[in-house]
Amino acid sequence: MGCLFCNIVSKKIPSAIVLENDHALAFRDINPVAPTHVLVVPKKHMTGIHDATPEDGEVLGAVLLAARQVAHDLGLEAGYRLVVNNGAEAGQSVFHLHVHVIAGRPLAWPPG
Ligand code: AMP
Repeated sequence: MGCLFCNIVSKKIPSAIVLENDHALAFRDINPVAPTHVLVVPKKHMTGIHDATPEDGEVLGAVLLAARQVAHDLGLEAGYRLVVNNGAEAGQSVFHLHVHVIAGRPLAWPPG
């Protein structure tokens, strides 16, 4: 079985892909919390941001730039939020690093 998002990256498990490049894949969240909810993941497996190392800088930059590209392509310039949950206590449920791109409704601050 293995890692869910690794299986999505390898396309063993289907997803609604919105962007793909050498380092990152972006796909629609299966359980959206807002009208637009996309996940951007590195193709390389990393459990979470806390496990990243300086050597991962290029990949991490590519993931953030992919999130920006998704926001541009989906016309989210009015506002969007990037969220990275790290650890179960913070709400992480899939242990492959991912950036949530959330938009399309007023987003409260501070987050819950
Ligand atoms: P987190 O709770 O930060 O780890 O976020 C994991 C996200 O993955 C949740 O928002 C889930 O809805 C989403 N998710 C789980 N399985 C899938 C899937 N097969 N395809 C797309 N999104 C998924």
